[in-house]
Amino acid sequence: MTFRFDNSYARLPDRFYARQTPVAVASPALIALNHDLARALGLDPDALAERPDIFAGNSLPDGADPLAQAYAGHQFGGWVPQLGDGRAVLLGEILAPDGQRFDMALKGSGQTAFSRRGDGRAWLGPVIREYITSEAMHALGVPTTRALAAVTTGETIWRDQPRPGAVLTRVAASHIRVGTFQYFAAREDTEALRLLTDHLIARHYPHADGPLALLSAIIDRQARLIARWMSLGFIHGVMNTDNMALSGETIDYGPCAFMDGYDPKKVFSSIDQFGRYAYENQPNIALWNLAQLASCLLPLMGEEAPAIEALTDRLNRFPALYEEEWLRLFRAKIGITTPDDGDAELIETFLARMAAQNADFTRTFRGLASGFAANEFADPAPFHAWARDWHQRIAREPYPQAVMRKANPVYIPRNHRVEEAIQAAVQGDFSPFARMNLVLKHPFDDQPGAEPYSLAPLEQEQVRRTFCGT
Ligand code: AMP
Ligand code: MG
Repeated sequence: MTFRFDNSYARLPDRFYARQTPVAVASPALIALNHDLARALGLDPDALAERPDIFAGNSLPDGADPLAQAYAGHQFGGWVPQLGDGRAVLLGEILAPDGQRFDMALKGSGQTAFSRRGDGRAWLGPVIREYITSEAMHALGVPTTRALAAVTTGETIWRDQPRPGAVLTRVAASHIRVGTFQYFAAREDTEALRLLTDHLIARHYPHADGPLALLSAIIDRQARLIARWMSLGFIHGVMNTDNMALSGETIDYGPCAFMDGYDPKKVFSSIDQFGRYAYENQPNIALWNLAQLASCLLPLMGEEAPAIEALTDRLNRFPALYEEEWLRLFRAKIGITTPDDGDAELIETFLARMAAQNADFTRTFRGLASGFAANEFADPAPFHAWARDWHQRIAREPYPQAVMRKANPVYIPRNHRVEEAIQAAVQGDFSPFARMNLVLKHPFDDQPGAEPYSLAPLEQEQVRRTFCGT
């Protein structure tokens, strides 16, 4: 089997990473293989299906140059000067037939130079959560890392209790993070910052002519990305600076979840005690992270005072970019494509009424097109009052139903269904996991027989906390 590798990150100087072969596992067994993605990468899915050893890190594909990347980061606002890939290894960069370049990495592949006190492993739960959620995000149209494969390892690992080990094969535009810049900035390694900037520009922002233009372009992509999350009720859960990818993809599906009932203050993560990464805080946190990035670029920009002014000016554009994209996305969610002044207020009023009754975010929006949105409110009167204004507004729209059906999914990876797939998998039954992946490939299409995946959790099914990927 041929992987077309061209490992540009491995050609950067040694201090960018630690060379690291994945640590072999006892008995790899394939539990999921993403055929569509394999083909997009120019790989033969049937041949791959015979190679769980590759996805477990027991064998290396020809041309791989495995390494653990160095990075730092702010975790929950606290500075950590060295993090790095503690349980992941970048095998290399695949050149796809369409010319695009993708990182292929193993997550859960054993200890590295950056493991600190960790075992370098992942258990089945987070591997399944990341597989389902990242692929669902892709199908929902959100820029994201992808899941190529998942294997179990035949090994038991120790968390709160003994758990089955697993490895995820992650495919990403790249794994360069805000934290990668922070790592070198903290070491006052201006040469490395320059090399990293050039690498990032060449790879993702070829039109940027320097650090300032690079920051602008990154800000633009992040503003759009976070607006997309918000439009789907997605809560990332650990927006640490090491978990913000500069390609503009969603990365690191730890304690993430989609919310059911709409609550702007919603938090799932068991470790997010103060709600730093609550749903409504996500745009603010993104900007905070971008400000950390901006300060890393300062040494590359000549005289300090004007540089600070220019970087600050770019950061100050984030709120408007975000608001603009947010408004565009939420207009579409209520069937509007031709902007009007009152739209933001119409949307805000609707959201406030949903929040007041904790109406299911996904079902309520989808219900606008089917006429069942009122059912999501215990007291439908406030909805009906709003709907009178809304009907008047969309009477001027050419095809609101079609617009809404394309903007509002029927199926999202509901947290209780993700948990169900994990529980079954732990018992050796991978069929709920497989079924869920199939349904979530077409989140906007009503699918016969898939109704359970569109339902909100019953009181006793609700999952209130999710745990970090460790
Ligand atoms: P995360 O919050 O999941 O993005 O991880 C933060 C840091 O902890 C990264 O440097 C990870 O590589 C590291 N880490 C997480 N889990 C483990 C583990 N089981 N073994 C070693 N390092 C880990
Ligand atoms: Mg991470």
